[in-house]
Amino acid sequence: MARILIVEDEEDLAGLLDYNLRGAGHVPTVASTGAAALARLKSAQPELVLLDLMLPDIPGSEVARLIREQPEFARTPLIMVTARGEESDRVRGLELGADDYVVKPFSVKELLLRVNAVLRRSEGMAAERGTPLSSGAIRLDPARHEVRVEGEPVALTALEFRLLKTFLERPGRVQTRETLLSDVWGISAEVTTRTVDTHIKRLREKLGRAGDAIETVRGVGYRMGPG
Ligand code: CA
Repeated sequence: MARILIVEDEEDLAGLLDYNLRGAGHVPTVASTGAAALARLKSAQPELVLLDLMLPDIPGSEVARLIREQPEFARTPLIMVTARGEESDRVRGLELGADDYVVKPFSVKELLLRVNAVLRRSEGMAAERGTPLSSGAIRLDPARHEVRVEGEPVALTALEFRLLKTFLERPGRVQTRETLLSDVWGISAEVTTRTVDTHIKRLREKLGRAGDAIETVRGVGYRMGPG
């Protein structure tokens, strides 16, 4: 059972999807334009978005981008619904991180299977990503891929996120530059220990005052207290 946002301007199709998803135990919300979908995002709190690419106001690919831009929904699975022949849109959709796509006309049975598969995958990933971590004013939610300082979202790159997560997972323990290189960058990475310093500096800046929590241990590496 999941909250699903259906973004579809064809009234008959939207009704059909709404009816069948409800029948399968889900809780759907219908939006008939891109603007309506974006406006309804916060209240609908979808766990999956079914997104038509051809909408009357904003292209579906743009709606996808605007959804993804919001940290809260950056990981919400998206299934693109395309019409035959919208090849370039479909490709763009997948580039924007759609989890799957279906081509119109599709059978409702097929769509329900796709919906359940995407939801299962997304739940598995969320469980793997784990529970929230925190230190002082910093809170990192691996499932939502979100970092907040004093409740305010902070935009980090994927690498900065991994770096911060590594510190939070090992409170109070000194991490040598070599350890960080192998655990955050990966052993095959062609980077030097100086790269670590550069990224730590940037991460500290982004965290603002809370960034002071990452201590330099001279000649060894870095440490972040348990807060
Ligand atoms: Ca349409």
